[in-house]
Amino acid sequence: MKPCKACGKEFPESEMIFSADGMVCRSCEVDLDSGGLDSGAMSPPVLTGLIGGVIPFFISMAEVNTTTVNGQSTTEYFDIVAVVGGGLALGAGLFALKGALQASKHASRWGTPAAVAALGVYQLLRGFGKA
Ligand SMILES: [Zn+2]
Repeated sequence: MKPCKACGKEFPESEMIFSADGMVCRSCEVDLDSGGLDSGAMSPPVLTGLIGGVIPFFISMAEVNTTTVNGQSTTEYFDIVAVVGGGLALGAGLFALKGALQASKHASRWGTPAAVAALGVYQLLRGFGKA
């Protein structure tokens, strides 16, 4: 039996994993893995994307232009805040997702970046009046 470096509980050596912090148990290894800063759930790209994706819910600079050509009127909707914020969220979310996929086998780590990227897509659609 060996003590786990992270939680201090004793485990058989066969149940333990060598990590940068020493011998840790399996459940602590998962924790260490999910605590990584540059690919963590709230890493800077994720936060940046989240801000970009959320701001358009509060600020809108929508322009609605109705043009009539040969009696056919088309309404164009364009919200610069939603388009820029959505683009930012999509780009940052995909960037973070790529990092998370490389850094971790744990699917729980992919959820947040994927959600940020999806939010970006939604805001882009909103920005062009499609959602
Ligand atoms: Zn432990």
